[in-house]
Amino acid sequence: MAHDFVYTSHPARIIFGPGSQARIADELRHLDCRRALVLSTPTRRNAALELHDQLGELAVGVFSEAAMHTPVAVTERAMAAFAQVDADCVVALGGGSTVGLAKAIAHRNDAPQVVVATTYAGSEVTPILGQTENGLKTTIKGPGILPEVVIYDAELTVDLPPAISVTSGLNAMAHAVEGLYARDRNPLTGLMAVEGLDSLKRALPAIVARPHDLEARSDALYGAWLCGSVLGSVGMSLHHKLCHTLGGSFDLPHAETHAILLPHTAAYNARAAADVLAPAAQLFGGELGGGLYDFAAGLGAPLALETLGLREADLDRATELAVMNPYWNPRPIERHAIRELLGRAWRGERPA
Ligand code: NAD
Repeated sequence: MAHDFVYTSHPARIIFGPGSQARIADELRHLDCRRALVLSTPTRRNAALELHDQLGELAVGVFSEAAMHTPVAVTERAMAAFAQVDADCVVALGGGSTVGLAKAIAHRNDAPQVVVATTYAGSEVTPILGQTENGLKTTIKGPGILPEVVIYDAELTVDLPPAISVTSGLNAMAHAVEGLYARDRNPLTGLMAVEGLDSLKRALPAIVARPHDLEARSDALYGAWLCGSVLGSVGMSLHHKLCHTLGGSFDLPHAETHAILLPHTAAYNARAAADVLAPAAQLFGGELGGGLYDFAAGLGAPLALETLGLREADLDRATELAVMNPYWNPRPIERHAIRELLGRAWRGERPA
């Protein structure tokens, strides 16, 4: 096949390796930053305080109110904290929620961002900010949003609970699966997607068995970086659209929703995108949807949307929302088939 593609790379600096958190101070100095505001979620405040102490005079405060879907009200409080301590950059320690807050701050004041990523969501390598206000989630894209430096230190992820590790890892795998059939895919994103899927497929069962296994943690973080890079480079389709709808309109948790829907959306597109999905299908026993379902079940992942609190009565409205605005997908978006897909995912059945 003759190659025919456009590829835009993102100018992020990636520092990968166990113990690499020791390099944060040097990275701040390279960026000419002297006054970092350290960000975290409330449950990770102690880890953020430790990092603050480790950075010595390079850190001037901790803001630990980061929350899922980046509420604008939280960002406004963070902006006030940033001004109050006269910060000149942010250091985000955490997953997509904390990274979202760092991006939201940078979007408003252009503060340089150093992100220490500790889940597998991948937001740290995308130029995309999703934020919520008055129950509405909007997405903004722009170069100022992409963090300048990302630190991947597997030692900081050994305490990520196995259940979150599993759903977060499946969230990462969803970026790769959709990246494989993206209309604007290119040879590099294809390579990254397959390598990312392979790493996470190896890592997640090992993490469930031995959460403190540094090699497995490193494999998972490596896979997350690759899958996140795919998300940051190409457009997403049905899977991300459905997750966005269910997260935004029914307040379902991000990673769990991705984990439950992935086998079903992969099965929906399996035939229409059979050629580009072939390397992924091969990793999961030849049948991507069913193989991913068995993989998730084996990891103890949630399988049914019902368990996340979605009501069966909401499925018709979710279908309407999902088919409302047309978007590209390898298989046409068929209302009846989407309703069936959601029904199976709600009940937790293996994809047909
Ligand atoms: P999260 O950041 O909320 O983290 C999940 C939980 O894990 C939190 O309670 C957090 O405190 C905890 N945690 C994180 N690291 C830990 C560690 N090392 N040890 C113990 N606990 C730890 O969830 P997430 O799934 O990483 O991110 C979800 C958010 O990210 C959503 O708002 C989603 O929209 C966004 N997101 C955005 C993009 C993008 O490109 N813009 C991509 C992916 C996700």
